[in-house]
Amino acid sequence: MIDYSNFINGDFVDSQGGERITVTNPATGAEISKVPETPHEQIEAAIAAAEKAQPAWAALPAVVRAKHLHELADKIREKVEPLARVITEEQGKTLPLARVEVNFTADYIDYMAEWGRRIEGEVMESDRPKENIFLFRKPIGVVVGILPWNFPFFLIARKLAPALICGNSIVLKPSEETPNNAFEFCKILNETDIPAGVVNLVSGYGATVGRALTESPKVGMISFTGSVETGSRIMAAAAQNITRVNLELGGKAPAIVTAHADLDLAATAIQASRVINSGQVCNCAERIYVQRSVAEAFTGKLVEKMKAARFGNPLEDETLDYGPMINQAGYEKVVRLLDAAVSDGAQVLCGGGRGADESGFYFEPTVVANCTQAMDLVKKEIFGPVIPIVVFDELDEAIAMANDTEYGLTSSVFSNDLNEAMNLVEALKFGETYINREHFEAMQGYHAGWRKSGIGGADGKHGLHEFLQTQVVYLQRS
Ligand code: NAD
Repeated sequence: MIDYSNFINGDFVDSQGGERITVTNPATGAEISKVPETPHEQIEAAIAAAEKAQPAWAALPAVVRAKHLHELADKIREKVEPLARVITEEQGKTLPLARVEVNFTADYIDYMAEWGRRIEGEVMESDRPKENIFLFRKPIGVVVGILPWNFPFFLIARKLAPALICGNSIVLKPSEETPNNAFEFCKILNETDIPAGVVNLVSGYGATVGRALTESPKVGMISFTGSVETGSRIMAAAAQNITRVNLELGGKAPAIVTAHADLDLAATAIQASRVINSGQVCNCAERIYVQRSVAEAFTGKLVEKMKAARFGNPLEDETLDYGPMINQAGYEKVVRLLDAAVSDGAQVLCGGGRGADESGFYFEPTVVANCTQAMDLVKKEIFGPVIPIVVFDELDEAIAMANDTEYGLTSSVFSNDLNEAMNLVEALKFGETYINREHFEAMQGYHAGWRKSGIGGADGKHGLHEFLQTQVVYLQRS
């Protein structure tokens, strides 16, 4: 079993006999590592190291910071296979998906590095003679990045790469479910010339280590990805020091399938969306609204595709479609939501249980018909390989039900009638809408939820600007 140490000021630092957290493989329950429940002095030391390193890092030309990031991306590419295995072992996604995650992480770091020469200020017209008004974009200082477990490696890059290219330093806290890949990331980072203290990592539980990081007056920005409940707690902690927050929270993505949809395409895209990473993806389809005239045909196609999805231990079989869910709590949530829907009249068309393998947190690919908008299965984030179907007659009904949610991250429309599709897009109140394709965002887009799905966003130019603050300078010439 590996015993990891925190990464502070360029060194792996022993947590001096403090409490350790045991990390397990969700496919088997086997214990795979121990990581620190970081003591308070080390949390302070990590923040202090980041604070000390940041001015010199920010003083480097952005193009030099970019070179450091490109070096990091290249070193990650040299280790795709071992990193993918670490991710799969602790998180449960398939090895091919873990490889995609590692490669995407390297590409994302390169992409953000390319913004180095493109961080721009502005010059405004003055109301006065002989005056210039300049707007500078500047780093914020110390950024805290708090990570979830579902795409743990990629989310390091989504926080670190924009923070660093903008001249900030960072303290990362991985999820207690999936910290190993973050420690492996730090080993790679330690082989680069990125100066000590620019990147630090401390592990531990959210209520203790996460909370201490978010309450620190030395932190300029908290970039968080995770649940709405934790996002709300982080906002409350940040309120003490008016710390800037960037929150990427949960979703309950509707997929609207109209009478004009390519039903094969819709069934393929929604099935992929529902089984990838065992359905534990914030932006993936979580509920379907299908028009009555095509409901039966579409449902039949979807059930066939869901039934064909194969799951099991991802380290034993690379050809599986998905692995286990992350933990017992995630599994029980799915069971609870499904049982409640069935007792209110929903009908399970396929799946509905654990399957033959009792060793991990597995759940069968499940399609649920006869659902209504009132059911929690249709309203709350499921985060498992289960999809409820609601039938509608008029498009206005579908729009009203799709928008009837406290979340507002992503949505999708399946229709080959472009007027119809764009009318739906116009009415949907979500940060992202996918038309006739699977649910996945691009790094040059802007991933930002409405309502309780978040504040601010990630990716592209707009995501980059979240990590900068402005200084406006008035120059009066004589
Ligand atoms: P979570 O909120 O339980 O935990 C996320 C992180 O927050 C962990 O590192 C945890 O230790 C930490 N944490 C918990 N309490 C804290 C506190 N009081 N203060 C500071 N930190 C604290 O979320 P999760 O279960 O790891 O992730 C799943 C959730 O993340 C889902 O809701 C999913 O939709 C969401 N998610 C959103 C996006 C997005 O881009 N919008 C992406 C991935 C996941």
